[in-house]
Amino acid sequence: MLFCSTVYKNTAGDKTPAVPFKEAILQCLPEEGGLFIPKSVPDLRHLLLHMGEETSYPELVAAVSPLLFEGDLNPSSASRMAEGAFTFEPELLRLDRNFSVLTLYGGPTGVFKDFGITFLAALLEELLKNDTAMVVSASRGKTGVSIAKAFQNRRNIVTTLLYPDENIYGLDRESYVPEGGNVIPIRVKGTLDDCQRLIGELIRDRSFSERYKVTSANAINPGRLLPQAFYFLYSFIRLKKHITGELLFSIPSGNLGNLIAGLYAWKFGMPVNGYIAAMNINNPSGDFIKSGNFEDLKSSPIVPTVSSALDISRPANYERLVSFYKESPAVMKNMVYTETVDDARTLGTMERVWKKYRLHLDPHGAVAFAAAEKMAAERNFDGHIVILATVHPAKYAEETRKATGQRLELPDRLASLNRPAEPVAEIKPALEGLESAIASCFYTP
Ligand SMILES: *Cc1c(COP(=O)(O)O)cnc(C)c1O
Repeated sequence: MLFCSTVYKNTAGDKTPAVPFKEAILQCLPEEGGLFIPKSVPDLRHLLLHMGEETSYPELVAAVSPLLFEGDLNPSSASRMAEGAFTFEPELLRLDRNFSVLTLYGGPTGVFKDFGITFLAALLEELLKNDTAMVVSASRGKTGVSIAKAFQNRRNIVTTLLYPDENIYGLDRESYVPEGGNVIPIRVKGTLDDCQRLIGELIRDRSFSERYKVTSANAINPGRLLPQAFYFLYSFIRLKKHITGELLFSIPSGNLGNLIAGLYAWKFGMPVNGYIAAMNINNPSGDFIKSGNFEDLKSSPIVPTVSSALDISRPANYERLVSFYKESPAVMKNMVYTETVDDARTLGTMERVWKKYRLHLDPHGAVAFAAAEKMAAERNFDGHIVILATVHPAKYAEETRKATGQRLELPDRLASLNRPAEPVAEIKPALEGLESAIASCFYTP
């Protein structure tokens, strides 16, 4: 049989030999630094032209993923995987002639991250067959739960979650490894950056990472990032019959995962005129995007805002964005716009959208909505902009009440995620402590 796997190369250049997709998602970080990106991408124009707007999300995922992960995923396992993984779907709400909102909060933890993480979990289980793996991830409480939910009960996969020195929520003791489950939550006395650094060190400690087959479910994993392109394609097939002019997406941008995924959807042949990278006042990459003049991005101190998931000092996907600009600077200049939205405008937008459309937007969605409105007004725009709503508004009930006077109740599935939970170990931010904390979970006296 001809084995023609989609290969993945390193953003850091040609130092790393290209590897097949399966290896890219299992290795996650190239040994030489940088991040994995696809070396070539499938052309989906034909597929997008023929798919009707009644296509369900699992159907779309089943059709596209074998092309994207060619050689590693055949159509029948893709279809089984997609049906099993996506019991929730994105929803495209057409508000009027110019604006739609794509809600991405129907998943188990009410955040768009459920989409990429759930796909990665299902894909890893599929690819591993009888091998084992350990998925290591650093996050604040929210993404940690999303990862724990997506990986819970997956065959042959253990999930190690690193939390910076703050509270942990929503995990059940029965799901911990020492209790017979597959999750290892560890509190690290340090910052999120310390946790990220530890993961890099852990993956690069080959003797440890080969023994436990360590990979990561953070946004850096291409197996989590690329599937986020699916909901851009999904929006397009739902809109294509209804719009005539330009099509833009407005994305609340923090680590730039959604922006990169959108750019991949465009590379796959989806007709789109541009992306708005909507940011709050913490926008270290905003200037870079404006000028197209990429330098080494300094991480800057964070100012807390109401759109807290966008409070990022150095975007994890920065190298991937730079690699797009290196490839075609002139094209990118006309493809990505950036806009900064402060808290007052964010809350004002939540109020306006509620009054005008009877729709609650969370603060992140509101940042993207405000950026879209500004862009439309400035350019006398008569096309269509899809705004990504990235988290369930009831998770920001306090901000919603402040902005709109409305009280939102959390759906039951999300309310249970607020229960405090304990870690299995608490460590200093050092590799040695992390490795022994993990090892001791498997030790039975
Ligand atoms: C993570 C997150 C973002 C940022 O997404 P990136 O893909 O990292 O840019 C936006 N909104 C919410 C609610 C998030 O949790």
